Amino acid sequence: MTFEYSSAPESKAIVKLEPLYKLYIGGKFVAPKSGKSFASINPATEEVLAKVGYAEKSDVDKAVVAAQAGLKIWSKMAPSERSKYLYRIARIMQERSREFAVLESMDNGKPIRETRDVDVPLAAAHFFYHAGWADKLDHAGVGVNPKPYGVVGQIIPWNFPLLMLAWKVAPALATGNTVVLKPAETTPLSAMLFAQACEQAELPAGVVNIVTGDGATGAAIVNHPDISKIAFTGSTEVGKLIARSVAGTGKGLTLELGGKGANIVFEDAPLDETVEGIVNGIFFNQGHVCCAGSRLLVQENIQEELLEKLKRRMALIRLGDPLDKNTDIGAINSKEQLNKITELANSGDEEGALRFSTDCAIPSKGFWFPPTIFTGVTQAHRIASEEIFGPVLSVISFRTPQEAIEKANNTPYGLSAGIWTDKGSRILWTAKHLRAGVIWANTFNKFDPASPFGGYKESGWGREGGRHGLSAYLKGAK
Ligand code: NAP
Ligand code: MG
Repeated sequence: MTFEYSSAPESKAIVKLEPLYKLYIGGKFVAPKSGKSFASINPATEEVLAKVGYAEKSDVDKAVVAAQAGLKIWSKMAPSERSKYLYRIARIMQERSREFAVLESMDNGKPIRETRDVDVPLAAAHFFYHAGWADKLDHAGVGVNPKPYGVVGQIIPWNFPLLMLAWKVAPALATGNTVVLKPAETTPLSAMLFAQACEQAELPAGVVNIVTGDGATGAAIVNHPDISKIAFTGSTEVGKLIARSVAGTGKGLTLELGGKGANIVFEDAPLDETVEGIVNGIFFNQGHVCCAGSRLLVQENIQEELLEKLKRRMALIRLGDPLDKNTDIGAINSKEQLNKITELANSGDEEGALRFSTDCAIPSKGFWFPPTIFTGVTQAHRIASEEIFGPVLSVISFRTPQEAIEKANNTPYGLSAGIWTDKGSRILWTAKHLRAGVIWANTFNKFDPASPFGGYKESGWGREGGRHGLSAYLKGAK
């Protein structure tokens, strides 16, 4: 007997889409000077959700002037007063959490279960956490009387639009900076809802400015002479471009870039829990996760048993309508990203790896990719080293712990890793030898605002979250 789930869609009624979202500059919603706009679509249906203002250099200039004016008020305000605004924003995010969650699912394609239970609560948690720091910066261990940079430029990607905004805006404001932020072209809407929340919180004008646009808008922020620090999350390719532009200008810079995380399973791991961790590591958020466990390194003697369990578990993953509360895997964020995933997966076939995908039904509209694993992957394959940024796992076997370390570290990236074993001493030994900024043991993809996040090598510079993240927004901090 098979049990079928009925669909359980979350209502869209809570979201009031506007036909055109303008730029948020100096506490007002203003049309871009050129009058240009672009559309943001729902990747699960390909419907246009809204038009969004396209900011050019002159609009970015205006946003920087507004942020400089905002700085005069914000940097002089008593830190305990700044705290109150951060608390207020956090509370508004909680109060309007369903609206944020539904809008984020619609604009990004990710399942409502994740926006509701992960993205929005974590975004609010970042504001709560940083509200607590605003009046305690002297005790953050970054020196006495630390000073903000001033106007900070922030550029974020499409995979966690609201959460990446929170990671950027909360520490910047807590440390007394003002911001000009650019969301990604395909996912600007939750940032515009956040702008409304800033208005509701009566945040002083110019403290947060949001300019929507594309790469050229981002470049105008990066190259603006009156911006003192750039915080970027996105691809390693664009990160390198930004590092080149900023070099020698005296601007501060933090880069959170790509990854190719190794999820390492030793022979003594509890296999059922491990399978859950592997699924969470690669299929969470359609695999659009910079710290995804996208390489499964499994000890050879348990490989067969583990893969059998994993395939059985994968068959239960539900792909479809992101607003359905039963959905595990939503839509791929854009056609371009789907093409990139497809091309890399095809290279896996061509280079001789063995593909296994679940035979779930794929909706006729929108962008979708089924949960997929490749076995027989060798270090030379493209899918072993290039970031796929989709629901595709490369399985590589190893025989000894030493070999696991060598294979795990054999990547230009160094963002995340996972260790699955019954032995605490093995966790410590493995973690010590891995070159990764974030290492999870017997779990995966767990985030907390108090915990610093960031990478080595081509995964970026600097840390976000915790005390380390604060110091990235304070001039001359240790
Ligand atoms: P992306 O192309 O680098 O875009 C990131 C942001 O930069 C977007 O807002 C983008 O604008 C903007 N941008 C593009 N070209 C620019 C330029 N020349 N100057 C300034 N800004 C520019 O990356 P993505 O495709 O959005 O995201 C996927 C990548 O981000 C993956 O490689 C992933 O690993 C990485 N990522 C890393 C982390 C982390 O924390 N380490 C987190 C999330 C994602 P438009 O896209 O709007 O044109
Ligand atoms: Mg969209």
